[in-house]
Amino acid sequence: MKKQIIELPREIVIGDDVIDDTAEMCKRIGLKGPVLVISGPHTKDVAGLKVVENLRKAGYEVDFDVAISIKKSDVDKIVEESKTHNFIVGVGGGKIIDIAKYSAYNLDIPFISVPTAPSHDGIASPRATLSYNGQKYSYDARAPRAIIADLNIISKAPFRLIASGCADMIAKLTAVTDWRLAHDEKGEYFSEYAASLALLSAQIVLNSTDKIKKRNKDGIKDLVKSLISSSIAMCIAGSSRPASGSEHLISHSLDSLVKDKKSLHGEQCGVGCIISSYLHGMDWKKVRDSLRNLGCPINSKELGVSDSYIIRAIATAKLIRPDRYTILHKIDMDEDKAEKAARITGVIQ
Ligand SMILES: [Zn+2]
Repeated sequence: MKKQIIELPREIVIGDDVIDDTAEMCKRIGLKGPVLVISGPHTKDVAGLKVVENLRKAGYEVDFDVAISIKKSDVDKIVEESKTHNFIVGVGGGKIIDIAKYSAYNLDIPFISVPTAPSHDGIASPRATLSYNGQKYSYDARAPRAIIADLNIISKAPFRLIASGCADMIAKLTAVTDWRLAHDEKGEYFSEYAASLALLSAQIVLNSTDKIKKRNKDGIKDLVKSLISSSIAMCIAGSSRPASGSEHLISHSLDSLVKDKKSLHGEQCGVGCIISSYLHGMDWKKVRDSLRNLGCPINSKELGVSDSYIIRAIATAKLIRPDRYTILHKIDMDEDKAEKAARITGVIQ
């Protein structure tokens, strides 16, 4: 049997004001400076500078970088300039966390994840999305050595980001079904444990919808825990398989087709999940109703994408990763089948 190394976070700290525990936790897990803190133009004020101050007070030598671009060439510059640091702390939304974990992976140093919004499961996964020549690609990255999830900060994130995180979790229902299909029909490696953990993430969110909608702290905590569980499922599987199936391919396909769209990753995966659950013969109406109940987009109009782009995205999604066998590959998806599925599910009118 092939050797597998599973890298998991050593500590996950969740609670109110736990951002003030950053230095203490870094010491506890044996991290010594100098450290690079990366934050974003907005998140630096709510969290980034707090982390810098907290680490400096504890005696860490800290450099601070406000990152804006996820262009691979710009992130490679951060990697080039960070060779003297012993670890990286990423404080911000999905893009900042991606920049930090990609940099840490390429520098072969630990990375601490301090998310400020629960918008998708990248907060703890070993993959990063960066752009190259105007297209988004997924790169190998470092899973966090530890995660600090401050509920006071995360629960104040715009509700749209919270709902988008929920949609990314609901999308695990079809991701796991696609993985099982690839196992049954193509003999692909399948981990029952990783699959169950990913499905549990979806179930936690579905059970906590009402609490999450009220921004109740328990509900937000459930969402954060499910995002982390999904990331850990990816660490255990050694790939994004438990968290990313045909619904994610549809989302990635939209990313590559529509340049100036405003829709979020989780929102696109949610709509992709309606289509994919229909194609799998699952209860797609339940998926749609759960998304609608959370206030997530359930059709092209709400997503802000034209019907023709939606059809093309579904039809060509299988080409994004030909090696990742899903229901789209099984039925040899084309424009006619895509339009039919989108019309039946109400994704296009
Ligand atoms: Zn996702």
